[in-house]
Amino acid sequence: MKTFENIDAKSVNQAVTLLRKFQQEKRSALVVGGGSEILQLMKERVVTPDYVINLKTIPGLNTIKEDRSGLRIGALTTLAEIEEHPMVREKLLILSAAVAEAASPQIRNAGTIGGNICQRPFCWYFRSANFNCLRKTGQVCYSVTGDSRYHAILGAGPSYIVHPSDTAPALVALDAQIKIAGATGEKIIPLEKFFVLPQVDSKHENILKPGEIVTEIFVPYPKSGSKGFYHKVRERLAWDHAIVSVATVVQSSGGVARDTRVVLGGVAPIPWRAPKAEQFLHGKKIDEETTQKAGELALEGAKPLKDNVYKIAMAKSLIQRALLASV
Ligand SMILES: Cc1cc2nc3c(=O)[nH]c(=O)nc-3n(C[C@H](O)[C@H](O)[C@H](O)COP(=O)(O)OP(=O)(O)OC[C@H]3O[C@@H](n4cnc5c(N)ncnc54)[C@H](O)[C@@H]3O)c2cc1C
Repeated sequence: MKTFENIDAKSVNQAVTLLRKFQQEKRSALVVGGGSEILQLMKERVVTPDYVINLKTIPGLNTIKEDRSGLRIGALTTLAEIEEHPMVREKLLILSAAVAEAASPQIRNAGTIGGNICQRPFCWYFRSANFNCLRKTGQVCYSVTGDSRYHAILGAGPSYIVHPSDTAPALVALDAQIKIAGATGEKIIPLEKFFVLPQVDSKHENILKPGEIVTEIFVPYPKSGSKGFYHKVRERLAWDHAIVSVATVVQSSGGVARDTRVVLGGVAPIPWRAPKAEQFLHGKKIDEETTQKAGELALEGAKPLKDNVYKIAMAKSLIQRALLASV
């Protein structure tokens, strides 16, 4: 591991000011939450910062606050704290279910929600020091000619990573918003707009600019009559990332969908919303036939690589299962 200096930030303002200062001085710096993901990348020398700014020492960023319309989750709240929070279990069951699917209990005890959403891809080419791939400073996405069994089938090219987070699809399905702090102040945007496709930026997974950090996620309570479901397929029962996952939230009455969200994980470089499927279901009875059609619409335009054609059928079937369980 390259030698670096750790700085325990005392406030959001100090963290963003330091990030900006180091950027101006052309010295590399990154922020760390629980460190469960980024330290691995540092050990492998995939990232080699001069400075690491520890956000866990900032007071007040690890709380879950209830307000009338939803929950405000501080970015430094651990996944375990979210999973166990009574209001998350009562009102946002799909989030609790998605969190419980992420990594292992040990990692959920250390890993934060901010870090989970900002985690780097778990692509084996990206994580190996032997490949200077497109996500790093290289020009090539090795999955195109290499082993592509876990790579993207939707929204990809020129990079074929998949977004690794389990919480992100559930949060997008719940219409969550994200608060970002930078040197010029704070902004709040829909979480859906936080993630970026490789056609726009093949080096980063989100719109955070240098010097910006995530401070909070707001999750509105679902409308009355809504039910959500998170379903994940992984290769083994121990910790593993999603091969395909789906988060659905359906507001229905008498089995007829009024408002639907379908968001896929593990198939695209961002949590992949399926607007055609959502619109198709509007006003329709959720049954075998309509959910099958929704699955087909969601996968329209899928472009698998040579080893991951199987993801198409898997995603269709997961969508159908999740929708049928959401009414
Ligand atoms: C073995 C293993 C298996 C895993 N399996 C899964 C899985 O199945 N599903 C899943 O969802 N996740 C999985 N993960 C990822 C795990 O959930 C993350 O490691 C964890 O959530 C990251 O949180 P952290 O606070 O430790 O992040 P860190 O390691 O501290 O940071 C991760 C990244 O986010 C950035 N970051 C952190 N906090 C902020 C912030 N507030 N603002 C801006 N940027 C920030 C860091 O700079 C870094 O780039 C796995 C990880 C490991 C190591």
